[in-house]
Amino acid sequence: MLLRHTPKEITERDALVINPAKTCQPIGAMYAALGIHGCLPHSHGSQGCCAYHRSTLTRHYKEPISAATSSFTEGASVFGGQANLIQAINNIFSVYEPEVIAVHTTCLSETIGDDLKQITIKATKDGKIPEGKHVIGASTPSYVGSHVTGFSNMVKSMAMQAEKTGTKNGKVNVIPGWVEPSDMEEIKRLAALVGVDITLFPDTSGVLNGPLSGEYHMFPEGGTTMTELKSTGDAVGTLALGEWCSADAARWLDSTHKVPCKVLDMPFGLSATDRFIDALRIAAGVTVPDEVAHERGQLVDMMSDMHQYFYNKKVALVGDPDQLIAMTEFLVSIDMCPVHIVTGTPGKKFEKRIRELTADMPFEVNVKAAGDMFLLHQWIKNDPVDLIIGNTYCKYIARDEDIPFVRWGFPILDRVGHQYFPTVGYKGGLRLLEKILMALLDRKDRDDPEETFELVL
Ligand code: SF4
Repeated sequence: MLLRHTPKEITERDALVINPAKTCQPIGAMYAALGIHGCLPHSHGSQGCCAYHRSTLTRHYKEPISAATSSFTEGASVFGGQANLIQAINNIFSVYEPEVIAVHTTCLSETIGDDLKQITIKATKDGKIPEGKHVIGASTPSYVGSHVTGFSNMVKSMAMQAEKTGTKNGKVNVIPGWVEPSDMEEIKRLAALVGVDITLFPDTSGVLNGPLSGEYHMFPEGGTTMTELKSTGDAVGTLALGEWCSADAARWLDSTHKVPCKVLDMPFGLSATDRFIDALRIAAGVTVPDEVAHERGQLVDMMSDMHQYFYNKKVALVGDPDQLIAMTEFLVSIDMCPVHIVTGTPGKKFEKRIRELTADMPFEVNVKAAGDMFLLHQWIKNDPVDLIIGNTYCKYIARDEDIPFVRWGFPILDRVGHQYFPTVGYKGGLRLLEKILMALLDRKDRDDPEETFELVL
């Protein structure tokens, strides 16, 4: 009963966040950087920041996350971290030999005003970046935005590596947004099924969900290579999955290299996956193959078979904007009612989109961007729900209020599976439905009286 002191009465709060529904920018930048092949993320700040970011990603992915730090002490904190970063670049290339160092800033280096671009130019002039190796950077001050903003900023830096030769390479850039490595794998599988040659970036599949082979590799096989990133300027188009995570990079490629972009929702659930498959189909100029149609049919079948258990169930959601928008659309499509929705990431567009998606629902929706989980808990106390979907931190609310709970989003610190089993696409939709049904039906089995306790659904 950890949250037993959360009061039911809601008081207006402007300057106080309790139990945030987000984490800090550099975590997103570090996750995105891990999707570059042979990349060592580098945290330009103090050791504490880097340790926190690494440990959060390690606990979510159950994999050791390697990252370096500029290790600011008092001197760097006062006079700036240029000397530390140049020394770090020299050490990292000498000792660990990555292909790429992806530097992100922290609150401290941003407050000092360190200029990553200028420091990188100086490192190049000083001969600290070996031939054929790369240093890229993203500004990620954590006092604005969230981990989603940091992810988006690093993805934009990846897009900025693009070069335009003038000859189209026939490929489509797909920017998946902050999804799991398993989801990135699934997006590549779907594109291959439809017959589209894609460049996926970032791509953490094979990096954070690789097999245990008994051999240590500092840099796993997976990740988007620098050659691939450079070729994104010659692509025939870009599909950006998610306004918050991916659109900035796609629009930059569009305006700078005239690679036309389309911003779609993340392909969670039936309709969003339909739109993604349709965009791939148009890009390839093909009809949707039978195998994809078959997978779609299976999802529709489960939606219809189990409809009675979904119907009018109230849901509370917490997570990141791009994920929540697609999830809300999916839940509404199966006649569930997402009534309380919170993201810690700012953006009024989020609230507007959620209100549009839930306009025909029989219940009023509570939605807040830049909100927190304390508010979500208060909403639940005032208007209880049948299910909570969100990250690991929701389990305190779920236990206190005795509500079934599905773990989905970031971070998931106390379960596994998200690295290996996708929730995007039609197959991912099946998995989402299975998880939701498991939670609802387990509760029904627990609470049903003897006379209604059924063996068969
Ligand atoms: S100081 Fe800033 S960058 Fe470092 S952990 Fe805290 S919020 Fe994140």
